[in-house]
Amino acid sequence: MAIQPKTVAMVTAGVAVTAGLAYMLYFDYKRRNDPTLKKKLRKEKKKVKQEMKKAQEKAKTNALEIIENVLKAAEKETFPSSPESKEKYFMEQVAAGEALCNKGEAFYNDAVLPFYLALKVYPAPMELILIYQKTVPEPVFQMLINIMALEQQRRQNIFYETFPPKETHVKLGELPAGKNEEGTPVIRRSLIADKDIEKDEKIYSERPLVSALYPELEGSHCNFCLKSIDNDESKVPCPHCDLVAFCSESCRDTAEEEYHKYLCSHNTSTDTKAVDEADDENTALEFAQTSKTNNTKYPYMIARFLSSMVAEELKKQKTEEKASETTFGAWDHVDRFRYLETSPSAQSEAEITMLKKVLGTKVQGISEFLSDEIYLMLKGKLLYNAYGIPASTTTTVDVRDSEEHSRVTDSEAKHIGAGLYKISTYLGQSQDSPNVKLSFDNDEITVTATKAIKKGDELLAAYTLPVGKKSTAEEKN
Ligand SMILES: [Zn+2]
Ligand SMILES: [Zn+2]
Repeated sequence: MAIQPKTVAMVTAGVAVTAGLAYMLYFDYKRRNDPTLKKKLRKEKKKVKQEMKKAQEKAKTNALEIIENVLKAAEKETFPSSPESKEKYFMEQVAAGEALCNKGEAFYNDAVLPFYLALKVYPAPMELILIYQKTVPEPVFQMLINIMALEQQRRQNIFYETFPPKETHVKLGELPAGKNEEGTPVIRRSLIADKDIEKDEKIYSERPLVSALYPELEGSHCNFCLKSIDNDESKVPCPHCDLVAFCSESCRDTAEEEYHKYLCSHNTSTDTKAVDEADDENTALEFAQTSKTNNTKYPYMIARFLSSMVAEELKKQKTEEKASETTFGAWDHVDRFRYLETSPSAQSEAEITMLKKVLGTKVQGISEFLSDEIYLMLKGKLLYNAYGIPASTTTTVDVRDSEEHSRVTDSEAKHIGAGLYKISTYLGQSQDSPNVKLSFDNDEITVTATKAIKKGDELLAAYTLPVGKKSTAEEKN
């Protein structure tokens, strides 16, 4: 079946629906990993998923050669970086693909590359695939599905080959975790030793992906690294607000760059212009006050995480023309964490509304990205995985107990905040016979062996979880 000239219009018309969101900051995250799109695909477009699975299984046929060639050609391609040039590039590739299809079946294999290249610059590839399904000839469509499946598989493999880094002496093992309802064995990813480890050996340390203080402690502890600065003459304020303080200029600058520029209330700014430009209601200030009243850390941690993600993306756009298959960002990590499934509530609704108000005007695309589903998922990840960060023994803190669960590693300790960690999230849990202990230096976590551990053994730490052992927390591979 030759493609009709009309279909160019159809592909581009279908695309126009999402083109408004098309070139926002979350470009790569959406393209690679948007869980909403994945879920939509999972739920509503079962057929496409089945085809992708089928395709994945039979990817070893002669189509493989064509796929390899397309992937190789795509690797050499320099993709445009500005929104306008991406859009132009996209239109050109779709038109080229369709022109080849119109020439007849003999040109179908050649048409795969331009259609694939168009996918590479389109922010919501799953949506585009659905449009392709209706518009491009079946064999071309099959090939595109094959390529996407293979690419996803490769990226997944690369992730677990390169993470955690070698120098941490740990690996993510696949351990049996019973069977699901259908009787299929389930695996879980957990940290295992990558070498023999001696008792009392320090295994690794890491700083968090994101951390936050109890709101009551802002000003007395560093907003970035959580260090106590109550009686410290080196206390560094934010030049524009009195909501936060830092322990050093470097903490202040990093925080400013990564998130505080989006979350600063500018309430002490002497620059009247900045004050005028701030929202009439000063939503950043309202956000900070609400967090304090409700004694919540997680909405702020989510705001901080999303802001850092945007900063990371902007930085990447500056340094890297081509989206690399081996570059994994904060989202790639968080996306793989298990999470506690929670239902929407009046509180979560209010939190989402607040975040959209605070970030919406400053971060393009955030309102579309931060769906209820994504917010609840992110919060569920914090509830399940974040560790409570204890106060250092030399400081006394007085904070109200929190209703937000964080992993408690020492029931005696007073907490100053919580942190979410790339590696330590995967530590196995054992209240009775742990083989490692966790210690904190501000928000940096250190994992030390309390027993000799053999290479391949699971690392087990004592900490609390928000659910019983037979939890239904969703795990993604
Ligand atoms: Zn600091
Ligand atoms: Zn500020």
